[in-house]
Amino acid sequence: MTDCATSHLFRGARLFDGTRFHEQTDLRVGADGRILEVGRDLKPAGVIHECRGKWLLPGLVDCHVHFREPGLERKEGYAFGSAGALHGGVTSLCEIQNNPPLMVSAELLAQKKSALVGVSRVDYAPYGTLTHESVSALPEMVGHVPAVKCFLGGSTGAAGVKDEASLRLLFQAASKANLKVVAHCEDNSIMREVKAAAPPEMATRHDFMRPIRAEVESIRTALRVAAEFETDLHVFHVSTARGAQLIAQAAAAGQKVAGSVGPQYLLVDADEAHEMAQNRFKINPSIKDSAQREGLRQAVASGALAMIGTDHAPHPLGDKDRPYAKAASGFPSIDLLLPLLFAIHDEAGLSLEVLLAAATSAPAKEFGLAQKGQLQPGFDADLVLVDPSPSAARTVDESQLPSRSKWSPFHGRVLRAWPEQVWLRGQLAFSNGAVVGEPQGRPLFD
Ligand SMILES: [Zn+2]
Repeated sequence: MTDCATSHLFRGARLFDGTRFHEQTDLRVGADGRILEVGRDLKPAGVIHECRGKWLLPGLVDCHVHFREPGLERKEGYAFGSAGALHGGVTSLCEIQNNPPLMVSAELLAQKKSALVGVSRVDYAPYGTLTHESVSALPEMVGHVPAVKCFLGGSTGAAGVKDEASLRLLFQAASKANLKVVAHCEDNSIMREVKAAAPPEMATRHDFMRPIRAEVESIRTALRVAAEFETDLHVFHVSTARGAQLIAQAAAAGQKVAGSVGPQYLLVDADEAHEMAQNRFKINPSIKDSAQREGLRQAVASGALAMIGTDHAPHPLGDKDRPYAKAASGFPSIDLLLPLLFAIHDEAGLSLEVLLAAATSAPAKEFGLAQKGQLQPGFDADLVLVDPSPSAARTVDESQLPSRSKWSPFHGRVLRAWPEQVWLRGQLAFSNGAVVGEPQGRPLFD
């Protein structure tokens, strides 16, 4: 067992500090669970962990997950979801409640956060919900949430913004309260038109039913309204090259806007998604064609999309294995985040520095997680120890994943870089495929 009142020295690792790699580097963790020193040949003291041949990374920060607690624990819940997070190398997450009760008041947020103490194995920051119902509560959410979530276009379990007048009211209110807005962008009216006119052979193609222009037009609208009210905007799970470009252009012109992308949009294309049995890759926004995938890879490489979040959205397989139109959207993926980042590197040639920064330091800065995402003195000692060598690659076996749903669209893929140990604030939380000790997760905002 790990004694939390002891200092630890991790010695001789290849260390990624949140921005770049350092060879044969040591890291000391203080008794308070913070990083004390990082450097070469630190004085041996405390518990020594020899890490030669291993890589030491900051615990990943996943800025987009759904754990469905409270209210829909049959689909996941924090006990399962946070164990899955550790399995994927994630120690901090920003989580969206997209089933009732939506997080429309400071009181509901406080209740949710306190109910998760002793349940969550990783640190957590629930988003507030941005709807007409929450407008009057926004000022009291300030300082207690990383941002507020707005749905432009319907998705699982949450009503979308109905019209532009509503959007204007909500973005203006968030700006006035000085809260960042995180948004799901897909245009409902375009999707309705497509549905009404879909030929039968296309009516089960998710990329046809939720097309490129539905996202692009929705992002265009969101950017225009955000610019008008100077709303700080983050567009989630960008699935189109044009969408990424519009965000980058607005940011370059001085608008407060950024975007993130899910690993699935960088790894899979629409044909593969369509051919996958049981609607496993059905997700909103839809996974687009290979040209979009290539454009998104370039957007990550260039920094136009500087963050990666999973959109972990678990359902029992029975909720997916239905005729297309009735199948739930979304799938579990947090359990595999670190191996998926390496798969993107291996398949798309993107640099590991860029990919790892996109899931550590970049989202921590974007969402105000001051102690997270970097291996630097003063930061929380959230650590992932991993052997990413090809000889340590394994085949994904969905039955072994901790997330409650016990299935994965990546089942059968050979992936490398499975976390061996994960430490949360200086305490061992996961080792050799299993969680360790009692849940120690804390809220990242009071
Ligand atoms: Zn989502």
